[in-house]
Amino acid sequence: MKAFGELVKESFPVEEAGEKTCEECGDSYKLYKTPRGVLGTCKTCSNREVLKKFNIPTPEEYRKGKELHFIASFERVPHDLKAATVNSYQPNNDSQIKAKQAAIQYVKEFDGYKSMTLAGTPGLGKSHLAYAISKAIKDKKQKSLFIKVTDLFDHIKSTYSHHSNITEEQIFTMINNLDLLVLDDIGSEYVKSNDTGHETWASDVLYKIFDMRLTKATVCTTNYSESELIKKYGNNGPRIMSRMMNNAVGIRLEGEDHRRKERF
Ligand SMILES: [Zn+2]
Repeated sequence: MKAFGELVKESFPVEEAGEKTCEECGDSYKLYKTPRGVLGTCKTCSNREVLKKFNIPTPEEYRKGKELHFIASFERVPHDLKAATVNSYQPNNDSQIKAKQAAIQYVKEFDGYKSMTLAGTPGLGKSHLAYAISKAIKDKKQKSLFIKVTDLFDHIKSTYSHHSNITEEQIFTMINNLDLLVLDDIGSEYVKSNDTGHETWASDVLYKIFDMRLTKATVCTTNYSESELIKKYGNNGPRIMSRMMNNAVGIRLEGEDHRRKERF
């Protein structure tokens, strides 16, 4: 049986009449001489119209949605942080006021390149600010992931299992493609002492991540000082720190643990 289009062509022979560039999308489409004059339709635009009408995502939207879904699958935000915004951070002293201002400025001037490290003893709201930054960057339609460094390591380790449905490579590709990576609590992970002279797994992975994000925005929080972290990561220490602090501003928060309420 003949296709409908061919039958139409046979009954109403149409002649090609050149091409036209679509004013909407810039693609070109063919024009035909018809009894109603020279006509043609942009296929790209009419396909898009159909997708829009039935609420079907375009291939780009579908790919982007899938990517955002994949990124979100790694995010585990502690309950007390879920509502955190930069504005809801309540500073108690000068160092915290400075940290809040730096966070506001960071979001405002976000360029996908500048990085920031928030350091200080636990309970000063470093994670609050870091998570709030990640959320604000997402609101700017950028790809951001807030993740505790120990959770990230667990995710990577889980890919070594035969039962894993994702690969280590997929995680690293995701991390590489983020507009912003927020690594919470650097130094809280367990690093085996390397008395054999071999680099340990955790510091190798951390080095790989910072190396891959050398020219990309990363926000870190840590309870440690720079020299403490260098010591912790052994042979990898100096190069991890030099990459972590590449184009980064370091901010130290001081004060009392706001979560600590004296009971006796
Ligand atoms: Zn078009």
